[in-house]
Amino acid sequence: MKPIASLSLDLDNKWSYMKTHGDAGWESFPSYLDIVVPRVVDFLKNRDLKITFFIVGQDAAIEANHEALAQIPAAGHEIANHSFNHEPWLHLYSEEQLVEEFQKTEDALSTATGKHPIGFRGPGYSLSPTVLKVLADRGYEYDCSTLPTYIAPLARAYYFFKSPEMSEEEREKRKKLFGKFSDGFQSLKPYTWDVGGRSLIEIPVTTMPGVKTPIHASYVIYLSTFSKLAARAYWKTAIQACKLAGVQPSLLLHPLDFLSGDDAPELKFFPAMNLPIEEKLEFVSEILETYTGNFEVVNMKEHADSVAASQKQVREVRVEIA
Ligand SMILES: [Zn+2]
Repeated sequence: MKPIASLSLDLDNKWSYMKTHGDAGWESFPSYLDIVVPRVVDFLKNRDLKITFFIVGQDAAIEANHEALAQIPAAGHEIANHSFNHEPWLHLYSEEQLVEEFQKTEDALSTATGKHPIGFRGPGYSLSPTVLKVLADRGYEYDCSTLPTYIAPLARAYYFFKSPEMSEEEREKRKKLFGKFSDGFQSLKPYTWDVGGRSLIEIPVTTMPGVKTPIHASYVIYLSTFSKLAARAYWKTAIQACKLAGVQPSLLLHPLDFLSGDDAPELKFFPAMNLPIEEKLEFVSEILETYTGNFEVVNMKEHADSVAASQKQVREVRVEIA
């Protein structure tokens, strides 16, 4: 039997790219969900794949998006939470702000899709001990917000300590908390967070074993704009490295992997948006063929369930709540 691997898509909408990029007009929440959702759903159906869509609450709160969003559970895919406002500084939110953010997202997802999420991925891989506490309080089963690279934990640590109003004592306390918490950011293999006695499965976004460079589809497609041969070799190396290291990978997709500059002119300056759509979809297809050829590909919930069932082999990272 082939080892398990998971597949998910972060349904970042046009406005969230514009917001991050600092472009005017994002405040009216322009959307491409009516184009990209049917395209992705169709693509997955043809390949017999059932995956997890991480959906932004703000999109689910807009009625014009409901028709597109309803197609996702109707095709048998899992719905998960990708925050309400898609702000990559979610790790700086207070507990009170987080509870509101989660409540609003769960309500909107339930209205738009009829589903209640049990999985979460923070925007921009943002995560904090408080986010984990709120997830545990609200009965979530898994989190997928970590991206093990050598750069991200340092950047995050910087944000943690930067807060000027924090007293020395507070700072010391947080340093210790962050020390334990940051252990989790280094693992490529799934593990469990112990959040004050409750457990939450963590499934990191897989990076290349050893060097920890990104291997999500957008990055491999970006490489292909320089050399298809090199991108193919890189992806095959990543797959082999995961198998050798005993890592059950979790591959991440984005809407831009299924769109060209013609579909979203505002985003045509983003990497690989100049690729003709047929060429792009063919390359994504190739990536997924290698993936499904080597692994039994499941959604995030199934991946988390299989991690929970093999509890003995799973490492535990304790999170102390301040
Ligand atoms: Zn996102």
